[in-house]
Amino acid sequence: MIYLSLGSNLGDREAMIARAVEELARAGVTPRRLSSLYATEPVGFLAQSWFLNCVLKAETKLTPRQLLRVVQRVEKDLGRERTTPGGPRTIDIDILLYGSSVIHASGLDVPHPRMGERRFVLVPLCELEPGLRLPRSRRSVTDLLARTADRSQVQLWGGPSERDDGVGPRR
Ligand code: AMP
Repeated sequence: MIYLSLGSNLGDREAMIARAVEELARAGVTPRRLSSLYATEPVGFLAQSWFLNCVLKAETKLTPRQLLRVVQRVEKDLGRERTTPGGPRTIDIDILLYGSSVIHASGLDVPHPRMGERRFVLVPLCELEPGLRLPRSRRSVTDLLARTADRSQVQLWGGPSERDDGVGPRR
């Protein structure tokens, strides 16, 4: 089983995520479960719109390297423009976990090295797999979420009418 993080903060974010899942499926990443969508506060570079984030649980026969190529092609196909590092993007896809593999290769680190520092990854992953333990550390996703220093906001998304386009969701 593999887990991917998908995020978008430009254009029709929900449609962008749906299209990414479809394109991944066409390329051999068979979806098993998609988490809820979460409205998330941008981390790092703050002067941009809120993101929609989710986690996809899937199966694939692709190798990790092939999977990375597919992920990068889908990002490119969906019109990702790399203008500002960490800035707005139509779609961002990260490989969080590839079974229990630990990979440190050029341009590919799995488990994703920053997943423990990102509530926008841990909250949707915890929805799908609260008890899943990461390779090496053996910590559960619930444990990582409880321990993370990240305090950024991650809120269940209420749909397109919700006021979350840069000013935060309605409370
Ligand atoms: P980003 O701009 O955050 O999408 O980062 C993309 C870069 O991170 C690419 O050059 C990838 O080679 C590299 N990378 C390393 N590990 C991973 C991973 N687990 N998932 C996705 N990209 C990765």
